[in-house]
Amino acid sequence: MAHLSIVVMESYALKELSEAEMRRAEKHVASCPKCPDRLEGELGWVAARRSPFMAKVRKIVKAEEKRPAQG
Ligand SMILES: [Zn+2]
Repeated sequence: MAHLSIVVMESYALKELSEAEMRRAEKHVASCPKCPDRLEGELGWVAARRSPFMAKVRKIVKAEEKRPAQG
């Protein structure tokens, strides 16, 4: 699985990604157990904790966990 790069994450936070790319980033982080931690760990991304981005990601992750597996 290709993880999101820090650059992509930063671009997301700055809303410099296209809508399609932003959706892709959200989807990946929501389904990836590592990227949210990676972000906070590698970037020390204090701003991210305050930004709506991480809150949104955590919401998505929780929703994904509740949803029964497909198929
Ligand atoms: Zn990932």
